[in-house]
Amino acid sequence: MPAEPSTVRQEWTEPGAFAVAPGVHRIPLPLPSDGLRAVNVYAIEDGDSLVLVDGGWALAESRQVLAKALGEIGCEPGDIRQIFVTHVHRDHYTQAIQLRREFGARVSLGSGERDSIDLILGRSAHPVGPQLTGLRASGAWPVLERLRALFDSSERDRERDGAGRDGAGRGSAEPAPPDGATWEAPDQWLAHDQEIELRNRSLRVLATPGHTQGHVVFADLAAGLLFAGDHVLPHITPSIGFEPVESRQPLANYLGSLRLMQALPDLRLLPAHGPVAASVHARVDELLAHHAGRLDRSAAAVGGGPATAYQVATRLRWTRRERTLDDLDPFNQMLAVTETRAHLELLVAQGRLAAQQDGEVTYYAPAAPSGPAGAGDARPGATG
Ligand SMILES: [Zn+2]
Repeated sequence: MPAEPSTVRQEWTEPGAFAVAPGVHRIPLPLPSDGLRAVNVYAIEDGDSLVLVDGGWALAESRQVLAKALGEIGCEPGDIRQIFVTHVHRDHYTQAIQLRREFGARVSLGSGERDSIDLILGRSAHPVGPQLTGLRASGAWPVLERLRALFDSSERDRERDGAGRDGAGRGSAEPAPPDGATWEAPDQWLAHDQEIELRNRSLRVLATPGHTQGHVVFADLAAGLLFAGDHVLPHITPSIGFEPVESRQPLANYLGSLRLMQALPDLRLLPAHGPVAASVHARVDELLAHHAGRLDRSAAAVGGGPATAYQVATRLRWTRRERTLDDLDPFNQMLAVTETRAHLELLVAQGRLAAQQDGEVTYYAPAAPSGPAGAGDARPGATG
């Protein structure tokens, strides 16, 4: 079987089954046309059967690539006994449901995703409802208009992902419109600190809310491995709180979930997107530094205030190429404003900024000496 091509960053998407530890194989599966390019699922040998971490996106091509990769290690999809899914995003979850239908594999998901699953199955939620509410609170009227035009013109099927704002061009896989054909509840809801006893290894479930509220990672402490899902990615910064249900402080949750990783022994990073990396701690340090810098720059961009999250987003730069908000496509503009709002809300919770409501729009200003923010003169939609 081929060795892990971890030295060449470009090759992590290449199809196949790559041994990353004894009895553990990384299997990249295709995603439709987008920035993330592929999603890794991990096949764990477990006696005479297989356990998967994450399932991939339920697509015919993905299903074929999975079968071929399993063939390289002498297995087939029917050998999959259990699938542990890190979070509710469709590029991780939907093919697990498909494999359950075909072969009876048992599917487990973090209990914090229950509300999202309920909303999706109830078909009561707009797929990006919380994001649209957030855009209104952010005064992001130009983005809302562009999104509306986009939704009207290209009916569906342009689900894009949220991973990453500081990485290269985005767009990809994450939450999609409710679709009863591919969504079902899991067999089992996983709880924080739960130990999953497999035949020859034990996986500890750790709740890592942030990317989604119910995101979990799986730590194999004996083997020194972390199946990290989208919580810790080697090359991009995971999006925060892009999910069917609204989260109050997704960034605070995310940073707390990163610190939880620091409380573990350092483990090898087995991410859902990107190559395997030697140290979870090293990447967590980088992600924490990134967000600390982003918080400082967000506070600075508020200036004397008052300013909306949209105005602040126009004053910040996006992606490693330092693009302006206007340079981004509408979907990524939405993610950028959503992320800006998450940073500003955390600054409010930290006492560094004060927030004031004017109708549905929130205005931010420095917290301390310079008096209450007079919201009236900052016009929603104005670029700063
Ligand atoms: Zn995700």
